Amino acid sequence: MSWHILGAGSLGSLWAVRLARAGVPVRLILRDAERLAAYQAAGGLTLVEHGQARLYPLAAQSVDDPEPIRRLLLACKAYDAEAAIAGLAPRLAADAELVLLQNGLGSQDAVAARVPQARCILASSTEGAYRDGAWRVVFAGHGHTWLGDPHQLAPPAWLGDLERAGIAHDWSLDILGRLWRKLALNCAINPLSVLYDCRNGGLSEHPAEVATLCGELRELLQTCGQADAASDLHEDVLRVIQATAANYSSMHQDVAQGRRTEVAYLLGYACRAARRHRLVLPHLEALHARLLEYLAAHGLPSH
Ligand code: NAP
Repeated sequence: MSWHILGAGSLGSLWAVRLARAGVPVRLILRDAERLAAYQAAGGLTLVEHGQARLYPLAAQSVDDPEPIRRLLLACKAYDAEAAIAGLAPRLAADAELVLLQNGLGSQDAVAARVPQARCILASSTEGAYRDGAWRVVFAGHGHTWLGDPHQLAPPAWLGDLERAGIAHDWSLDILGRLWRKLALNCAINPLSVLYDCRNGGLSEHPAEVATLCGELRELLQTCGQADAASDLHEDVLRVIQATAANYSSMHQDVAQGRRTEVAYLLGYACRAARRHRLVLPHLEALHARLLEYLAAHGLPSH
């Protein structure tokens, strides 16, 4: 069965190339006829691995192609996910399965509400890829992808496709816990790295601020029924700060390159969840306000 992949960006291209190389039929879904023509003119996607670039002439179509979709990898940013799925909804088969690659939380619920008939499988990935040109993606960091479905614990039959494609993965029985934990790590590190304009390691100069945020994030996770994701959060944050000391966080990279961030699905989501539970988390709220102010001053949206 074919995989349709919406978003020939960093992660979408990485999945598409590896699935196609394993003999799995893949169709890229591009925004419109203009993007499709540009892709065809380029002759395909180029993936750079271990410094070697190779062109893959994968099949592509635009969003309004009539072909029905049974298996879809949604590989756009969190802020594009709901509109993207709304555009594809008429093409989804009755038994369609979606894999949602978006970082953070909030976009997955918005997608599921648009297509209640489809099975939505959530993913959390530590793989790293970036675009260094049109239709050209660099595979920067090998990692792991966890997949899971909070509503249906049995794994889908097609995990074998990922195995054959060499996409390192595990089926998780607690994917929401994983997404919450990743969101909490992100909230403790990424906004401060933007505000202090530093690499992750630079946060070791602000231990009290990091510790206070971790305390509030722990409280939030526990209140939201995510006690497992809350345990040892502060220790884990300190470990990540050390292990990634030389790196700029993804949010820092977005801001530095003038790209819209996924803040509404990370710190924004955390603050909304706290308010929903009438939980007062003053430091998290103040961090959010400072970050939004900083983004506005750099001409970037807060949503
Ligand atoms: P990306 O490189 O910006 O790619 C997103 C792609 O989605 C773009 O090609 C964009 O098309 C396409 N798109 C958006 N709306 C569309 C629509 N309506 N129809 C067709 N295509 C559409 O993003 P990414 O880095 O792969 O990130 C995807 C998600 O994975 C994010 O939530 C990110 O946080 C998460 N993630 C990424 C990485 C990583 O290393 N990159 C690692 C872990 C998690 P255009 O090119 O036409 O704009």
